[in-house]
Formats: sequence, C-alpha cells, structure tokens
Amino acid sequence: METVGFIGLGNMGGGMSANIQRAGYPMVVYDLREEAAKPLLEGGARLANSPAEVASLCDITLTSLPGPKEVESVSTGPEGVLEGMKPGGIYIDLSTSRPTLIREIEPKFRQKGCHVLDAPVSGGKSGAASGNLAVMVGGEREIFDRVKPILDSFGDKVFYAGSIGAGSVAKLVHNMIGHGVRQAIAEGLTLGVKAGVEAEALWECIRRGSLGRMSGLHEGIARTVFTGEFDPPNFALELSRKDIGLATDLGREFNVPMPVANLVEQIAIQGMNRGWGGRDSSVTFLLQEEQAGVEVRATGVDPVKAGRFITTHPEV
Ligand code: NAD
Repeated sequence: METVGFIGLGNMGGGMSANIQRAGYPMVVYDLREEAAKPLLEGGARLANSPAEVASLCDITLTSLPGPKEVESVSTGPEGVLEGMKPGGIYIDLSTSRPTLIREIEPKFRQKGCHVLDAPVSGGKSGAASGNLAVMVGGEREIFDRVKPILDSFGDKVFYAGSIGAGSVAKLVHNMIGHGVRQAIAEGLTLGVKAGVEAEALWECIRRGSLGRMSGLHEGIARTVFTGEFDPPNFALELSRKDIGLATDLGREFNVPMPVANLVEQIAIQGMNRGWGGRDSSVTFLLQEEQAGVEVRATGVDPVKAGRFITTHPEV
C-alpha cells in the first residue's frame, strides 16, 4: 500500500486522515499544532518535522489547510511539499482554495516529474469524521483513477470535475449558491416570525414543501434551463412574480429588510417586461446568461433523476 502524508489535521483534516489510517495506509503527518497529530500517532503514524519531510517519506501527500495563503507556503514555500517530493509523487490539496493558485502550483510540480490534484470537500466536520464527504477533483484523469481508493476512504461521493482547478471552481460555485440560499432562508424566516408565525411552523413548512428536498428546484432547472425549453410552463413567471411581490410587500408592512428577495423581484420584473410572463419562471435564467455572456445547457442531465433526493448521510 502507498504511504500517505497528511498536513493540516484540523476539523476536516483530523477526520479525513483518521479514515485514511483506518483503511490501512501507513501514514506520515504534520501540523503546526503538535497536539493535533496525537490520535494518528497513537494509530501508528509517523510525525514529520516539516511538509518537505512528509513529502520525502510518502508516495502521496495531502493538505487540508485554512486557505490559499497556507496552501501556497506549505506546497511551494521553504521546506514545503515541492522541496521534499520525489519524482512520481502526487500532491493533493483538499482545502477550499483559489483555483488560480493550484493552476500556478501545478506546473512547478510537473517540472519535477510530480502530479497535482485539487480535491476540495463538502460535508462538514461530522462528514469528515464519518466518511460522508463529497470530494470534487481537478487534475489528470489517470492520476485521479490511481488515487481514488484513498479518496474513497474518507469520501462517499468522489467525482472527477475536470482539469486542474476544476474541483476548486466547483466547490466555490457550490458554496456561493449555498450562501445565497441561506440568506434567502434568513430573510424568509425573519419575515415569517415578524408577521406572526412561530419559527417551528415556518420550519415545518420549509421542510414539508418541495423546497425541503430541493427536488422541485432541481427537476425544474434540469427540465428548462439545461434544455433551453421554457414553454409550456410548469409554473409561470407571472405567478412567481406575484408571489415574490406579495413577500416583499409583507416585508415592507413588517419592516423586514430583504435584499435578496427584492433583488429577485427586480429580476422577475425585467423578465415580465420581456414579455415572458407566460413562460416558466426559471426563464429569468436567460437574463443572467445574457449579462454573464454565457449559456448553461446540460443535455446529459435527466430531469427525473435530477429531482431525486441525493443524500450523503444514510441516516437522513
Ligand atoms: P481548521 O482550522 O480546523 O484546520 C486547519 C489545520 O491546518 C489546523 O490544524 C492548523 O493548525 C493547520 N495549519 C495551518 N497552517 C499550517 C501550516 N502552515 N502548516 C501545517 N499546518 C497548518 O480548518 P478546517 O475547518 O479543518 O478546514 C480546512 C479546509 O477545509 C479549509 O480550506 C476549509 O475551508 C475547508 N472546509 C471546511 C469545512 C468545515 O465545515 N470545517 C467543510 C468543507 C471544507
């Protein structure tokens, strides 16, 4: 079995490295906080004195660090991974970091005959501990195939995203959408409570409605945006414009600031003024595509399958 190095044994790295060790790989570890390595050392791992030393002792070296600054210094800085790695070695960054940075780092490793993958993860500390993580990977396909068993030891949804940096781009898109949705939920819950409904009841409504499983949203996007077909509507833009208008009216009545909802309303109004009231409400995607100068079509996505609930947590 390959010897695996792991640098950055924090909330995520602690769980992921423990799962790699549980899968039987001999390990060499390093963290600025020495105490973070304790559980792994008890499991038989060796402690290194620097990232360079980790890489010099291992076939594959992984990092799970706070962000781009740490990734840059640990990978290519003094006593970094690049310095110690032997030709043929593989460096995998699991951090959520800047796609451009890993694209700059990769040629430096290639010059030395080494390989790089970016493989950010999603699923939180509990997912890292239980092995329920999505792992989105960028880099050479052949290297991905070679290290997949290691990635499978700590992730249950490991997938290839494309060339180097693709994993990081996918992860940033995923989180950006998540933050936007969270703000929308924050606006909705504050509106609901201020308008006199218990938070528990609102939560029930969110969970029991189609929003709870996001299935309607996923199915709708796959059926319309990904195909470019917005007619006939399953739910017309004029109806969604009415709904969002009723919500922003209620927000004004109860003095609840709702920046996302008001922005969404403005976009719906633009769509109405294009004469799209009778088309599917997701037709407003076309406005975003026009402004961004890009089309988002994905004919390989099956709408029925897209609507099925995907879980990384078997208990859900
Ligand atoms: P963390 O702060 O708990 O862990 C980072 C670890 O790196 C710490 O143990 C720290 O001591 C170590 N470290 C920092 N600089 C170092 C250096 N120069 N050399 C060696 N070790 C160093 O952070 P985390 O929550 O485990 O997150 C790690 C990465 O995973 C981040 O990029 C984060 O965005 C991403 N992520 C986190 C979560 C989450 O829910 N926590 C979920 C998905 C992705």
